[in-house]
Amino acid sequence: MAKRDYYEVLGVSRTASADEIKKAYRRLAMKHHPDRNKDDASAEGKFKEAKESYEVLSDTEKRATYDRFGHDGLSSARGGGAGGYGAEGFGDIFGDVFGDIFGGGRQRGSQVFRGADLGYELRLDLEKAVSGDSVTIDVPTQVSCETCDGSGAKKGTEPVTCSTCGGVGQVRMQQGFFSIQQTCPACKGAGTTIGDPCNDCHGRGRVRKTKTLSVKVPAGVDDGDRIRLSGEGEAGRNGGPPGDLYVEIRVNPHKLFTRDAADLACEVPISIATATLGGEVELPTLNGHVSLKVPAGTQSGKVFRLRGKGVSTVRDARQGDLFAKVAVETPVNLNSEQKDLLQQFEESIQAGGEKHSPRAGGWLDTVKRFFDRIS
Ligand SMILES: [Zn+2]
Ligand SMILES: [Zn+2]
Repeated sequence: MAKRDYYEVLGVSRTASADEIKKAYRRLAMKHHPDRNKDDASAEGKFKEAKESYEVLSDTEKRATYDRFGHDGLSSARGGGAGGYGAEGFGDIFGDVFGDIFGGGRQRGSQVFRGADLGYELRLDLEKAVSGDSVTIDVPTQVSCETCDGSGAKKGTEPVTCSTCGGVGQVRMQQGFFSIQQTCPACKGAGTTIGDPCNDCHGRGRVRKTKTLSVKVPAGVDDGDRIRLSGEGEAGRNGGPPGDLYVEIRVNPHKLFTRDAADLACEVPISIATATLGGEVELPTLNGHVSLKVPAGTQSGKVFRLRGKGVSTVRDARQGDLFAKVAVETPVNLNSEQKDLLQQFEESIQAGGEKHSPRAGGWLDTVKRFFDRIS
């Protein structure tokens, strides 16, 4: 198991005075002394850990070595530290000491902050979503200040090490028995403060700006799909990496089609005559017309499936299907002659009985059985 940082063990800052270190050790020694914790098996380990930390940090020379090279600098194999770190290099040694406090990859003595991710809603027509498109968008964001190169300090000046946290970016707060590590309130975790702030960004290191970006929308995107533009979010702080921009696709409702992934659906009005006698109707698709054969005796609500006349998605290049739902239209605004013809037609149908009405026959039977049961 990796050794914990000695300062962390004692709950003191890296700039703690000899007196602070002594006090912290005495408190921990009292708390974890094996004689006072006979029922707690972990106490002995904690006691030893505190003792070891104190032995190093209370010795000016050992503490200096530890500050520079970490635990590795103190191990005997390294001859006391100086010059003994060899092939591992600084990165690994610092990683051992600071890794568990700050997480890997961060600079010593300061916290870096990744910029926030941004979201952008991009509205598209169905045609563009299906075919793909190249769109220019304007995104309000925070970018690194050019005047000060993101440092926040006036040109010619530099940020100075924070005096509250000694550049660590974190401070320890004592609350009863607990010691809590939290972001330094003076420097907000940056480890540095700015004496003379940059005029353009007022020391923030970032400025508001509307960025114009070109977005390549891949063919087949659908409502709710997200396109990630890596590094196009807000600028990071204190040298941190920028966030990402997520472009969320919103597809406008279409006048003719509804879409379900790769399938399209539409409604086709047909006349009573076409539905009765059969015929061909022209159907729109996203790339031109197709012809649909309507068989004689087609009922309203019947759905025809036209294979391969749908669209494809970003995940699947296969073309979906088009589902065309037939709606038989009731004629309106008839003149008297048309009404007469229809009346004659109706009488002729009535004379033929149920054989002309495939739905009504079954329906009437069901209604009769329904009333028989409740009476
Ligand atoms: Zn600036
Ligand atoms: Zn600070």
